[in-house]
Amino acid sequence: MTAPRGTQDVIPPLSGRWQELEARIHELARGFGYGEIRTPAFEATELFIRGVGELTDIVEKEMYSFTDRGGRSLTLRPELTAPVVRAALENSLLSSGAARLYYLGAIFRYERPQKGRFRQSHQFGVECFGYAGADADFEVIQLAWELARRYQISGLQLHVNTIGDERCRPAYRSALKAYFNAHRASLSEDSRRRLERNPLRILDSKAPEDAAVIAGAPPFESMLCDACRAHFDMLKHYLEEAEIPFTINPRVVRGLDYYTRTVFEIMSDALGAQSAVCAGGRYDDLVRSLGGPNLPAVGFALGVERFLMVLEGSPASREAQRSGVQLIALGSEARERLVHLLGYLRQSDGLPAFMDYEDRKLLAQLKIADRNNARYALIAGDDELAAEQLVLRDLATRQDRRIPFKYEKDTAAEIVKMRL
Ligand code: ATP
Ligand code: MG
Repeated sequence: MTAPRGTQDVIPPLSGRWQELEARIHELARGFGYGEIRTPAFEATELFIRGVGELTDIVEKEMYSFTDRGGRSLTLRPELTAPVVRAALENSLLSSGAARLYYLGAIFRYERPQKGRFRQSHQFGVECFGYAGADADFEVIQLAWELARRYQISGLQLHVNTIGDERCRPAYRSALKAYFNAHRASLSEDSRRRLERNPLRILDSKAPEDAAVIAGAPPFESMLCDACRAHFDMLKHYLEEAEIPFTINPRVVRGLDYYTRTVFEIMSDALGAQSAVCAGGRYDDLVRSLGGPNLPAVGFALGVERFLMVLEGSPASREAQRSGVQLIALGSEARERLVHLLGYLRQSDGLPAFMDYEDRKLLAQLKIADRNNARYALIAGDDELAAEQLVLRDLATRQDRRIPFKYEKDTAAEIVKMRL
Protein backbone atom coordinates (compact mmCIF):
# COMPACT_ATOMS: atom_id res chain seq x y z
CA MET A 1 0.00 0.00 0.00
CA THR A 2 1.19 3.53 -0.65
CA ALA A 3 -0.07 6.95 0.41
CA PRO A 4 -2.64 8.45 -1.99
CA ARG A 5 -1.19 10.43 -4.89
CA GLY A 6 -0.32 13.99 -3.92
CA THR A 7 -0.16 13.28 -0.18
CA GLN A 8 2.88 12.79 2.00
CA ASP A 9 3.91 11.35 5.32
CA VAL A 10 5.88 13.70 7.52
CA ILE A 11 8.53 11.71 9.33
CA PRO A 12 11.53 12.58 11.53
CA PRO A 13 13.61 14.64 11.21
CA LEU A 14 11.36 16.71 8.92
CA SER A 15 8.49 16.48 11.42
CA GLY A 16 10.80 18.26 13.88
CA ARG A 17 11.04 21.19 11.50
CA TRP A 18 7.27 21.20 11.14
CA GLN A 19 6.93 21.37 14.92
CA GLU A 20 9.42 24.17 15.14
CA LEU A 21 7.68 26.17 12.43
CA GLU A 22 4.27 25.53 13.98
CA ALA A 23 5.54 26.74 17.35
CA ARG A 24 6.83 29.94 15.75
CA ILE A 25 3.58 30.49 13.90
CA HIS A 26 1.54 30.22 17.10
CA GLU A 27 3.91 32.56 18.91
CA LEU A 28 3.92 35.10 16.09
CA ALA A 29 0.15 35.17 15.61
CA ARG A 30 -0.44 35.47 19.33
CA GLY A 31 2.06 38.29 19.44
CA PHE A 32 0.00 40.20 16.89
CA GLY A 33 -3.18 39.68 18.90
CA TYR A 34 -4.69 36.86 16.82
CA GLY A 35 -6.62 33.95 18.36
CA GLU A 36 -6.54 30.48 16.88
CA ILE A 37 -9.64 29.03 15.25
CA ARG A 38 -10.02 25.36 14.30
CA THR A 39 -12.75 24.39 11.92
CA PRO A 40 -13.88 20.98 10.56
CA ALA A 41 -11.92 19.33 7.73
CA PHE A 42 -15.12 19.23 5.66
CA GLU A 43 -17.97 21.65 5.11
CA ALA A 44 -21.15 21.88 3.06
CA THR A 45 -20.12 22.08 -0.61
CA GLU A 46 -22.33 25.15 -0.99
CA LEU A 47 -20.05 27.13 1.36
CA PHE A 48 -17.16 26.92 -1.10
CA ILE A 49 -19.27 27.55 -4.17
CA ARG A 50 -20.51 30.77 -2.57
CA GLY A 51 -17.40 31.67 -0.61
CA VAL A 52 -14.68 30.90 -3.17
CA GLY A 53 -16.63 31.52 -6.35
CA GLU A 54 -18.01 29.40 -9.15
CA LEU A 55 -15.55 30.54 -11.78
CA THR A 56 -12.43 29.71 -9.82
CA ASP A 57 -10.00 26.85 -10.46
CA ILE A 58 -10.74 25.59 -6.98
CA VAL A 59 -14.49 25.21 -7.48
CA GLU A 60 -14.35 24.26 -11.13
CA LYS A 61 -11.81 21.49 -10.91
CA GLU A 62 -10.06 21.03 -7.60
CA MET A 63 -12.62 20.15 -4.94
CA TYR A 64 -12.86 16.81 -3.18
CA SER A 65 -16.62 16.60 -2.93
CA PHE A 66 -18.69 13.63 -1.88
CA THR A 67 -22.19 12.74 -0.84
CA ASP A 68 -22.43 11.33 2.66
CA ARG A 69 -24.75 8.55 3.77
CA GLY A 70 -27.36 11.12 4.63
CA GLY A 71 -27.38 12.47 1.07
CA ARG A 72 -25.59 15.78 1.88
CA SER A 73 -22.99 17.17 -0.48
CA LEU A 74 -19.82 17.79 1.50
CA THR A 75 -16.36 18.97 0.47
CA LEU A 76 -12.95 18.56 2.07
CA ARG A 77 -11.93 22.18 2.63
CA PRO A 78 -9.81 23.50 -0.25
CA GLU A 79 -9.10 26.70 1.74
CA LEU A 80 -10.02 28.12 5.12
CA THR A 81 -11.23 31.66 4.63
CA ALA A 82 -14.82 30.67 3.84
CA PRO A 83 -14.92 28.15 6.74
CA VAL A 84 -13.48 30.77 9.12
CA VAL A 85 -16.13 33.29 8.09
CA ARG A 86 -18.82 30.63 8.45
CA ALA A 87 -17.57 29.69 11.92
CA ALA A 88 -17.09 33.30 13.01
CA LEU A 89 -20.69 34.09 12.06
CA GLU A 90 -22.07 30.91 13.60
CA ASN A 91 -20.26 31.60 16.88
CA SER A 92 -21.13 35.31 16.91
CA LEU A 93 -17.48 36.33 16.85
CA LEU A 94 -18.22 39.26 14.56
CA SER A 95 -21.07 40.80 16.52
CA SER A 96 -18.88 43.49 18.04
CA GLY A 97 -17.12 44.23 14.75
CA ALA A 98 -13.41 43.68 14.93
CA ALA A 99 -11.97 40.20 15.35
CA ARG A 100 -8.55 38.77 14.64
CA LEU A 101 -8.33 35.05 13.92
CA TYR A 102 -5.69 32.67 12.59
CA TYR A 103 -5.66 29.05 11.52
CA LEU A 104 -3.15 26.32 10.78
CA GLY A 105 -4.42 23.19 9.09
CA ALA A 106 -4.79 20.88 6.11
CA ILE A 107 -6.38 21.80 2.79
CA PHE A 108 -7.38 19.44 0.01
CA ARG A 109 -7.28 20.16 -3.70
CA TYR A 110 -7.47 17.78 -6.62
CA GLU A 111 -4.38 19.02 -8.47
CA ARG A 112 -1.71 17.56 -10.66
CA PRO A 113 0.97 16.79 -8.08
CA GLN A 114 4.39 18.29 -8.67
CA LYS A 115 7.11 20.08 -6.74
CA GLY A 116 5.37 22.29 -4.17
CA ARG A 117 1.91 21.24 -5.29
CA PHE A 118 0.03 18.54 -3.42
CA ARG A 119 -3.47 17.17 -3.00
CA GLN A 120 -3.27 17.50 0.75
CA SER A 121 -1.22 20.44 1.93
CA HIS A 122 -1.30 22.83 4.87
CA GLN A 123 -1.93 26.50 5.27
CA PHE A 124 -1.26 29.04 7.97
CA GLY A 125 -3.55 31.99 7.52
CA VAL A 126 -4.91 35.02 9.32
CA GLU A 127 -8.18 36.90 8.94
CA CYS A 128 -8.54 40.39 10.32
CA PHE A 129 -12.20 41.43 10.44
CA GLY A 130 -13.79 44.80 10.93
CA TYR A 131 -11.20 47.30 9.73
CA ALA A 132 -11.60 49.04 6.39
CA GLY A 133 -8.33 51.00 6.46
CA ALA A 134 -4.89 50.31 5.05
CA ASP A 135 -3.56 49.90 8.61
CA ALA A 136 -5.13 46.43 8.75
CA ASP A 137 -3.71 45.55 5.31
CA PHE A 138 -0.31 46.61 6.59
CA GLU A 139 -0.74 44.52 9.73
CA VAL A 140 -1.45 41.25 7.92
CA ILE A 141 1.32 41.80 5.38
CA GLN A 142 3.75 42.56 8.17
CA LEU A 143 2.68 39.42 10.01
CA ALA A 144 3.46 37.23 6.98
CA TRP A 145 6.69 39.09 6.31
CA GLU A 146 7.79 38.82 9.92
CA LEU A 147 7.63 35.00 9.81
CA ALA A 148 10.14 35.03 6.96
CA ARG A 149 12.23 37.77 8.56
CA ARG A 150 12.60 35.89 11.84
CA TYR A 151 13.95 32.91 9.92
CA GLN A 152 16.31 35.28 8.11
CA ILE A 153 15.10 34.00 4.77
CA SER A 154 16.40 35.97 1.86
CA GLY A 155 15.24 35.84 -1.73
CA LEU A 156 11.57 36.45 -0.96
CA GLN A 157 9.70 39.14 -2.83
CA LEU A 158 6.54 40.88 -1.76
CA HIS A 159 4.31 41.83 -4.68
CA VAL A 160 1.39 44.14 -3.99
CA ASN A 161 -1.37 45.43 -6.16
CA THR A 162 -4.84 46.92 -5.91
CA ILE A 163 -7.86 45.68 -7.80
CA GLY A 164 -10.16 48.54 -6.86
CA ASP A 165 -13.66 48.39 -5.49
CA GLU A 166 -17.23 48.38 -6.80
CA ARG A 167 -16.83 52.00 -7.86
CA CYS A 168 -13.81 51.77 -10.11
CA ARG A 169 -13.65 48.12 -11.01
CA PRO A 170 -16.55 48.10 -13.52
CA ALA A 171 -14.76 50.55 -15.81
CA TYR A 172 -11.52 48.61 -15.54
CA ARG A 173 -13.38 45.39 -16.19
CA SER A 174 -14.83 46.84 -19.40
CA ALA A 175 -11.44 48.04 -20.54
CA LEU A 176 -9.95 44.61 -19.89
CA LYS A 177 -12.83 42.87 -21.60
CA ALA A 178 -12.38 45.01 -24.69
CA TYR A 179 -8.65 44.33 -24.69
CA PHE A 180 -8.97 40.56 -24.23
CA ASN A 181 -11.77 40.39 -26.79
CA ALA A 182 -9.44 41.94 -29.31
CA HIS A 183 -6.94 39.13 -28.55
CA ARG A 184 -9.52 36.43 -28.06
CA ALA A 185 -8.04 34.05 -30.62
CA SER A 186 -4.71 33.80 -28.75
CA LEU A 187 -6.26 33.05 -25.34
CA SER A 188 -6.53 29.65 -23.68
CA GLU A 189 -9.88 27.91 -23.60
CA ASP A 190 -10.30 28.59 -19.85
CA SER A 191 -9.62 32.28 -20.35
CA ARG A 192 -12.03 32.59 -23.28
CA ARG A 193 -14.72 31.04 -21.12
CA ARG A 194 -14.01 33.51 -18.30
CA LEU A 195 -13.85 36.53 -20.55
CA GLU A 196 -17.53 37.43 -20.30
CA ARG A 197 -18.10 36.97 -16.59
CA ASN A 198 -14.73 37.69 -15.03
CA PRO A 199 -12.02 39.09 -17.31
CA LEU A 200 -9.91 40.05 -14.27
CA ARG A 201 -9.35 36.37 -13.58
CA ILE A 202 -7.52 36.06 -16.89
CA LEU A 203 -4.68 38.15 -15.46
CA ASP A 204 -4.19 35.32 -12.96
CA SER A 205 -4.10 32.59 -15.60
CA LYS A 206 -1.15 30.23 -15.55
CA ALA A 207 -1.75 28.90 -19.07
CA PRO A 208 1.44 29.55 -21.08
CA GLU A 209 -0.49 30.60 -24.19
CA ASP A 210 -2.04 33.48 -22.20
CA ALA A 211 1.24 34.99 -21.06
CA ALA A 212 1.92 37.22 -24.05
CA VAL A 213 -1.60 38.67 -24.15
CA ILE A 214 -1.57 39.26 -20.39
CA ALA A 215 1.73 41.11 -20.62
CA GLY A 216 0.11 43.73 -22.81
CA ALA A 217 -3.06 44.19 -20.76
CA PRO A 218 -3.80 47.72 -19.49
CA PRO A 219 -2.84 48.23 -15.81
CA PHE A 220 -5.47 49.21 -13.23
CA GLU A 221 -3.32 52.06 -11.92
CA SER A 222 -4.71 54.68 -14.32
CA MET A 223 -8.37 53.88 -13.58
CA LEU A 224 -8.43 53.70 -9.78
CA CYS A 225 -11.00 55.88 -8.01
CA ASP A 226 -9.70 58.45 -5.51
CA ALA A 227 -10.63 56.41 -2.43
CA CYS A 228 -8.89 53.27 -3.73
CA ARG A 229 -5.84 55.26 -4.72
CA ALA A 230 -5.63 56.88 -1.28
CA HIS A 231 -5.98 53.46 0.36
CA PHE A 232 -3.18 52.03 -1.78
CA ASP A 233 -0.94 55.06 -1.15
CA MET A 234 -1.44 54.68 2.59
CA LEU A 235 -0.50 51.00 2.45
CA LYS A 236 2.67 51.81 0.52
CA HIS A 237 3.48 54.47 3.07
CA TYR A 238 3.14 52.02 5.98
CA LEU A 239 5.27 49.41 4.22
CA GLU A 240 7.97 51.93 3.42
CA GLU A 241 8.10 53.18 6.99
CA ALA A 242 8.46 49.60 8.27
CA GLU A 243 11.19 48.99 5.68
CA ILE A 244 9.35 46.08 4.14
CA PRO A 245 10.56 45.98 0.54
CA PHE A 246 7.83 45.50 -2.07
CA THR A 247 7.18 45.62 -5.78
CA ILE A 248 3.98 46.86 -7.34
CA ASN A 249 2.88 44.10 -9.68
CA PRO A 250 -0.26 44.81 -11.75
CA ARG A 251 -0.49 41.10 -12.65
CA VAL A 252 -1.23 40.03 -9.09
CA VAL A 253 -5.01 39.77 -8.97
CA ARG A 254 -5.63 36.55 -6.99
CA GLY A 255 -7.86 33.79 -8.24
CA LEU A 256 -10.69 34.12 -5.77
CA ASP A 257 -13.71 36.27 -6.50
CA TYR A 258 -14.12 38.04 -3.21
CA TYR A 259 -11.06 40.28 -3.16
CA THR A 260 -11.28 44.09 -3.16
CA ARG A 261 -8.54 46.71 -3.23
CA THR A 262 -5.32 45.28 -1.77
CA VAL A 263 -3.98 41.98 -3.06
CA PHE A 264 -0.51 40.62 -2.44
CA GLU A 265 1.72 37.60 -2.87
CA ILE A 266 5.04 36.60 -1.42
CA MET A 267 7.14 34.74 -3.95
CA SER A 268 10.39 32.81 -3.82
CA ASP A 269 12.68 31.89 -6.69
CA ALA A 270 13.59 28.74 -4.79
CA LEU A 271 10.31 27.11 -5.75
CA GLY A 272 10.42 27.01 -9.54
CA ALA A 273 7.01 27.21 -11.16
CA GLN A 274 5.17 27.11 -7.83
CA SER A 275 6.66 30.40 -6.76
CA ALA A 276 3.95 31.73 -4.44
CA VAL A 277 4.52 31.01 -0.78
CA CYS A 278 1.83 33.28 0.58
CA ALA A 279 -1.15 35.03 -0.95
CA GLY A 280 -3.75 37.33 0.44
CA GLY A 281 -5.63 40.54 0.30
CA ARG A 282 -8.71 42.46 1.28
CA TYR A 283 -12.14 40.89 0.84
CA ASP A 284 -14.68 43.42 1.97
CA ASP A 285 -17.61 41.64 0.29
CA LEU A 286 -17.18 38.12 1.56
CA VAL A 287 -18.76 38.32 5.01
CA ARG A 288 -21.92 39.82 3.62
CA SER A 289 -22.09 37.37 0.74
CA LEU A 290 -21.99 34.51 3.25
CA GLY A 291 -24.99 35.94 5.08
CA GLY A 292 -23.23 38.14 7.63
CA PRO A 293 -23.10 41.88 8.22
CA ASN A 294 -21.36 44.28 5.88
CA LEU A 295 -17.94 43.81 7.46
CA PRO A 296 -14.58 44.55 5.81
CA ALA A 297 -11.80 41.99 6.16
CA VAL A 298 -8.26 41.30 5.11
CA GLY A 299 -6.11 38.18 5.40
CA PHE A 300 -3.65 35.79 3.82
CA ALA A 301 -2.90 32.11 3.46
CA LEU A 302 0.64 30.80 3.54
CA GLY A 303 1.56 27.36 2.18
CA VAL A 304 3.39 25.53 4.96
CA GLU A 305 5.02 22.93 2.66
CA ARG A 306 6.27 25.64 0.33
CA PHE A 307 7.52 27.73 3.24
CA LEU A 308 9.46 24.74 4.57
CA MET A 309 10.94 24.16 1.11
CA VAL A 310 12.15 27.75 1.07
CA LEU A 311 13.57 27.34 4.57
CA GLU A 312 15.42 24.22 3.49
CA GLY A 313 17.17 26.17 0.76
CA SER A 314 18.07 29.10 3.00
CA PRO A 315 21.14 29.39 5.18
CA ALA A 316 19.03 29.64 8.38
CA SER A 317 21.22 27.67 10.71
CA ARG A 318 20.17 24.15 11.48
CA GLU A 319 22.70 23.92 14.29
CA ALA A 320 20.59 26.35 16.23
CA GLN A 321 17.82 23.79 16.27
CA ARG A 322 19.94 21.14 17.97
CA SER A 323 18.96 20.46 21.55
CA GLY A 324 19.36 17.87 24.26
CA VAL A 325 21.95 15.27 25.05
CA GLN A 326 22.72 11.80 23.69
CA LEU A 327 24.05 9.38 26.31
CA ILE A 328 26.67 7.11 24.79
CA ALA A 329 27.79 4.02 26.69
CA LEU A 330 30.74 1.93 25.55
CA GLY A 331 30.48 -1.37 27.42
CA SER A 332 27.87 -2.98 29.63
CA GLU A 333 28.92 -1.42 32.91
CA ALA A 334 28.83 2.05 31.39
CA ARG A 335 25.44 1.21 29.85
CA GLU A 336 23.88 0.37 33.20
CA ARG A 337 25.23 3.50 34.87
CA LEU A 338 24.14 5.75 32.02
CA VAL A 339 20.63 4.28 32.10
CA HIS A 340 20.49 5.38 35.76
CA LEU A 341 21.71 8.82 34.74
CA LEU A 342 19.18 8.94 31.89
CA GLY A 343 16.36 8.19 34.32
CA TYR A 344 17.40 11.11 36.54
CA LEU A 345 17.84 13.48 33.60
CA ARG A 346 14.37 12.63 32.36
CA GLN A 347 12.90 13.61 35.69
CA SER A 348 14.14 17.10 35.09
CA ASP A 349 11.83 19.06 32.90
CA GLY A 350 13.36 20.71 29.86
CA LEU A 351 16.46 18.77 28.82
CA PRO A 352 15.79 16.25 26.04
CA ALA A 353 17.81 13.10 26.71
CA PHE A 354 18.38 10.21 24.29
CA MET A 355 20.06 6.83 24.49
CA ASP A 356 20.58 3.83 22.24
CA TYR A 357 20.51 0.41 23.95
CA GLU A 358 22.47 -1.66 21.44
CA ASP A 359 26.17 -2.50 21.65
CA ARG A 360 27.50 -0.04 19.11
CA LYS A 361 30.76 1.72 18.44
CA LEU A 362 31.20 5.38 19.27
CA LEU A 363 30.83 6.48 15.66
CA ALA A 364 27.55 4.64 15.19
CA GLN A 365 26.17 6.20 18.36
CA LEU A 366 27.28 9.67 17.29
CA LYS A 367 25.29 9.15 14.10
CA ILE A 368 22.24 8.36 16.18
CA ALA A 369 22.88 11.58 18.12
CA ASP A 370 22.78 13.47 14.83
CA ARG A 371 19.54 11.79 13.90
CA ASN A 372 18.10 12.91 17.23
CA ASN A 373 19.41 16.39 16.51
CA ALA A 374 21.15 16.29 19.89
CA ARG A 375 23.36 19.24 20.78
CA TYR A 376 25.59 17.29 23.18
CA ALA A 377 26.88 13.78 23.70
CA LEU A 378 27.74 12.36 27.12
CA ILE A 379 30.23 9.56 26.61
CA ALA A 380 31.38 6.88 29.06
CA GLY A 381 33.62 3.82 28.58
CA ASP A 382 35.69 1.82 31.05
CA ASP A 383 38.44 4.48 31.24
CA GLU A 384 35.97 7.21 32.06
CA LEU A 385 34.28 5.08 34.74
CA ALA A 386 37.66 4.35 36.32
CA ALA A 387 38.45 8.06 36.41
CA GLU A 388 34.95 8.85 37.72
CA GLN A 389 34.36 11.11 34.78
CA LEU A 390 32.18 11.58 31.70
CA VAL A 391 33.09 13.22 28.42
CA LEU A 392 30.68 15.96 27.42
CA ARG A 393 31.01 16.70 23.72
CA ASP A 394 29.43 19.72 22.08
CA LEU A 395 28.26 18.25 18.78
CA ALA A 396 28.00 21.65 17.13
CA THR A 397 31.57 22.76 17.92
CA ARG A 398 33.08 19.24 18.39
CA GLN A 399 34.69 20.34 21.66
CA ASP A 400 35.10 17.97 24.60
CA ARG A 401 35.23 18.60 28.31
CA ARG A 402 35.17 16.28 31.31
CA ILE A 403 32.66 16.33 34.12
CA PRO A 404 32.74 14.37 37.40
CA PHE A 405 30.70 11.15 37.51
CA LYS A 406 30.63 9.53 40.91
CA TYR A 407 26.97 9.32 41.78
CA GLU A 408 24.41 9.30 38.97
CA LYS A 409 21.93 11.47 40.83
CA ASP A 410 24.50 14.18 41.63
CA THR A 411 25.84 14.21 38.10
CA ALA A 412 22.32 14.52 36.72
CA ALA A 413 21.73 17.50 39.01
CA GLU A 414 25.01 19.07 37.86
CA ILE A 415 24.11 18.59 34.20
CA VAL A 416 20.67 20.12 34.68
CA LYS A 417 22.34 23.08 36.42
CA MET A 418 24.58 23.58 33.40
CA ARG A 419 21.47 24.51 31.37
CA LEU A 420 22.73 22.78 28.24
P1 ATP B 1 -1.15 28.48 -7.08
O1 ATP B 1 -1.13 29.70 -7.95
O2 ATP B 1 0.23 28.00 -6.74
O3 ATP B 1 -2.08 27.42 -7.56
P2 ATP B 1 -3.26 29.43 -5.45
O4 ATP B 1 -3.53 30.76 -6.00
O5 ATP B 1 -4.14 28.30 -5.81
O6 ATP B 1 -1.74 29.03 -5.73
P3 ATP B 1 -4.04 30.13 -2.78
O7 ATP B 1 -5.37 29.52 -2.93
O8 ATP B 1 -3.92 31.57 -2.76
O9 ATP B 1 -3.07 29.51 -3.89
O10 ATP B 1 -3.31 29.51 -1.50
C1 ATP B 1 -2.32 30.24 -0.77
C2 ATP B 1 -1.04 29.46 -0.68
O11 ATP B 1 -1.28 28.11 -0.33
C3 ATP B 1 -0.27 29.36 -1.98
O12 ATP B 1 0.50 30.51 -2.19
C4 ATP B 1 0.59 28.15 -1.74
O13 ATP B 1 1.74 28.49 -0.97
C5 ATP B 1 -0.30 27.26 -0.93
N1 ATP B 1 -0.94 26.24 -1.77
C6 ATP B 1 -2.08 26.38 -2.49
N2 ATP B 1 -2.37 25.24 -3.15
C7 ATP B 1 -1.39 24.35 -2.82
C8 ATP B 1 -1.11 22.99 -3.17
N3 ATP B 1 -1.91 22.31 -3.97
N4 ATP B 1 -0.01 22.41 -2.65
C9 ATP B 1 0.81 23.09 -1.83
N5 ATP B 1 0.60 24.37 -1.46
C10 ATP B 1 -0.48 25.00 -1.95
MG1 MG C 1 -4.03 26.83 -7.25
